[in-house]
Amino acid sequence: MDRIPKLLIVDDSDYICTQIEKIFINENIEIKKAHDGKNALIAVEEFAPDLILLDVILPDTEGYELYHKVKAIDRNNALIIFLTSKDQDNDVVKGLSLGACDYIKKPFHNEILKSRILIHLEEKKSKDELKKKNYEMEANMKRLNNYAFKDPLTGLYNRRYVEEQIKERIIYGLEQTVLALCDIDNFKHINDDYSHETGDIVLIGIANIMESVSSKVTAVRWGGEEFLIILFNVNHDEAFHIIERIRNDIFNFPFYSKQERFHCSVSIGLNEYNRSLSFIQNLEQVDEALYAGKRNGKNCTIWYDDMIGKQL
Ligand code: GH3
Ligand code: MG
Ligand code: MG
Repeated sequence: MDRIPKLLIVDDSDYICTQIEKIFINENIEIKKAHDGKNALIAVEEFAPDLILLDVILPDTEGYELYHKVKAIDRNNALIIFLTSKDQDNDVVKGLSLGACDYIKKPFHNEILKSRILIHLEEKKSKDELKKKNYEMEANMKRLNNYAFKDPLTGLYNRRYVEEQIKERIIYGLEQTVLALCDIDNFKHINDDYSHETGDIVLIGIANIMESVSSKVTAVRWGGEEFLIILFNVNHDEAFHIIERIRNDIFNFPFYSKQERFHCSVSIGLNEYNRSLSFIQNLEQVDEALYAGKRNGKNCTIWYDDMIGKQL
C-alpha cells in the first residue's frame, strides 16, 4: 500500500495555514502546521514531511536561514517550496538557488497552489521509489558477491575471494604477512569410518575453530580438506602462536558420530610471505612445509625455513 504523503505548512499566519489545509480537504494528504521556526524544526524531526511549504518571514527566524537548519536534520529528503509575499525576482532566485524546488507568491490562487504541490508530491514519491529500488539492488549485489566469495559448506572464503579480493594486498602490501596451508590428517578414514556427513561436520567444526582463534585470521577453504590461512600484520612468533593455537584447539575438540567420540588432527606448513617470489612460488614453499609435516608424523606445524634447515 502507498504511504500517505505528508505536507508541513510553516507560516506565522494561522489564516494562511488553514486556507491551505482546506484546499487539500478531499486529498489523501496528511498535513501539519507550524507557526515559527522552532516548531517547524520539531515537526521536521517528528512528522518527517515529504514536502514543506516554507514562509520566508517568520517571527523567530528568516525562511532562508531556516532552510539550512531543516536540511541539516531532515532524514526524509523533503522537498521545500518557499511561500512569501515578497515578490521581487531576486527573492525568487535566492530561494531557488538554495535548492528549493519551487517558489509560490502570496496571495496565491488556490487551484494553482494545489496543482503545483500535487506535482511536487508526485515527484517526491517517484524519487523515493527509485531510491528504494537502488537500495534493494545494492543489497542484492552485496548478497550475491558474498555468495560468490564464500564456500557454501563451511562459510569460509573460497579461492575466488583470494584471487579477486586480497591477492593484491598479499603481493603488494607493506605489512608482514604469513601464509599457512592446513590439511586434515587421515580425513579419508573419517569419511570411511563414520560417514561423509560426519566428514562434512568435521570440516564445518574446523572452519569455526580457525575463525574463532584470532581476528587476524583470514581462513579460506582452499580445496577438499585443505585450508589456506592468511595472517596479515603479524611477526614470526605471533604467527606461530596463532597457528599452533588453531592446531591444538582442533586436536582437543571432541567430535561425535552417533555415540562415538573421536578427535582429528591437522598438519600445517607456514612461511613468511616473500615478496621477491611470485604468489605461486610462495604457495609451493608452504605446501612443501605442509608435506614435510605429513612425513614427520602429522599433527604438527612446520616453518618452511626450518624444514630447509633440518632437511625434513
Ligand atoms: P593425509 O593425512 O595424507 O592428508 O590423508 P587424507 O586422508 O586426509 O587425504 P586424502 O587426499 O587421501 O583424502 C582426502 C579426502 O577428503 C578424500 C575426499 O573424499 C575427502 N573430501 C574432500 N572434500 C570433502 C567434503 O567436502 N566433504 C567430505 N566429507 N569429504 C571430503
Ligand atoms: Mg588430508
Ligand atoms: Mg589434502
